[in-house]
Amino acid sequence: MTQVADFEQMWRDLAPVGRSASSGGYFRQPWHAAELELRAWFREAAAARGLEVDEDPFGNLVAWWGPDTGAEKVLTGSHLDSVLDGGAYDGPLGVVSSFAALDLLRERGVVPTRRLGLAAFVEEEGSRFGRACLGSRLAVGATTWEAARELTDRDGVRLGDVIEGPTDDAGSTLLEGVVTYVELHVEQGRGLIDLDAPVGVHDAIWPHGRYRYDIAGRADHAGTTRMEDRADPMLTYAMTALAANKQARLSGQRATFGRIDVRPNGTNAVPSHVTAWLDARAESDAALAALVAAIEKQAGDRAERDGTRVAVTAESVSGEVAFDAALRDSLVQRLGGVPVLPTQAGHDAGILQDAGIPTAMLFVRNPSGVSHSPYESAETADCLAGVEALATTLTGLVEA
Ligand SMILES: [Zn+2]
Repeated sequence: MTQVADFEQMWRDLAPVGRSASSGGYFRQPWHAAELELRAWFREAAAARGLEVDEDPFGNLVAWWGPDTGAEKVLTGSHLDSVLDGGAYDGPLGVVSSFAALDLLRERGVVPTRRLGLAAFVEEEGSRFGRACLGSRLAVGATTWEAARELTDRDGVRLGDVIEGPTDDAGSTLLEGVVTYVELHVEQGRGLIDLDAPVGVHDAIWPHGRYRYDIAGRADHAGTTRMEDRADPMLTYAMTALAANKQARLSGQRATFGRIDVRPNGTNAVPSHVTAWLDARAESDAALAALVAAIEKQAGDRAERDGTRVAVTAESVSGEVAFDAALRDSLVQRLGGVPVLPTQAGHDAGILQDAGIPTAMLFVRNPSGVSHSPYESAETADCLAGVEALATTLTGLVEA
């Protein structure tokens, strides 16, 4: 057996993979070189521990420990992919911590009566094919392969041309028999900084969605067309982005336009078309619906003034997820009373909980409070506290 690496060594091994020399951020998009390297690392880390790895037809990976007695299985893990120019911790921290926690379980002589799986879900961020948690959605059947294989990336490449997918209607059987999922993640906000705690437990995920705004106008000459004769979709977009920010601030929610496409994208032309993507999140389903409606109303009003047309398509909307209350309470008790907070970020954990698998989330303090950015960070001591908390949690679950 190859030498098993400890947490810090594993972390050092992953640090250069997919890292941009200019920004220091990470580009780990699914099925591109860096992410493939991480997948190979996952298999090596599993092999070094004598674990068998299963991969489903969508690219989700699980390394198994303990006898397959047919008894209920326990799953932990996270994802290896990143957003464009993302941080090191969002995703990989949960996967590396899973291996490190397993090492602790073995060191402590834990004898599992339930099989433990270490998971790496694919395309969690939706940074390549535009659907967040795509791998876990496919794994639980919340998204069909028929729909997913037609998704395209920015280069027009179909998902169905990148992976084969299932050969029949069976989909994925990877999560069969899984009765509990625990995901460890870096915190994506300031909650634990303010509470001065290294580790916490999430009790819920805010409802959130992605909405595509197609704003149509008329291409025209930037010099000869009088200002009052234009139908400029960029103006409608600009007003909509300001409206989104204002509506979210007024209601205490979140709204972001982080991506736009402009056609024809020329400096000396009034654009003909703007496509923009709104990411909106709110504390309740009703608050999200109200926020999205308020932004759409302001966009429509502005389009009338600009002589443009707005069409809004909800590309994905996830309702509120409340993690399993009994599991959460037992974790908090086992960990000696750690803070419990909701999160505004979506996770595979939310997809599994929605699919009826009781799920819990541990999260580790992020001293920058920043995520989806090269500035995301975590102290090694806090990461090790996270590994310890995960090991304690898993011990209780696999011995149950
Ligand atoms: Zn994540």
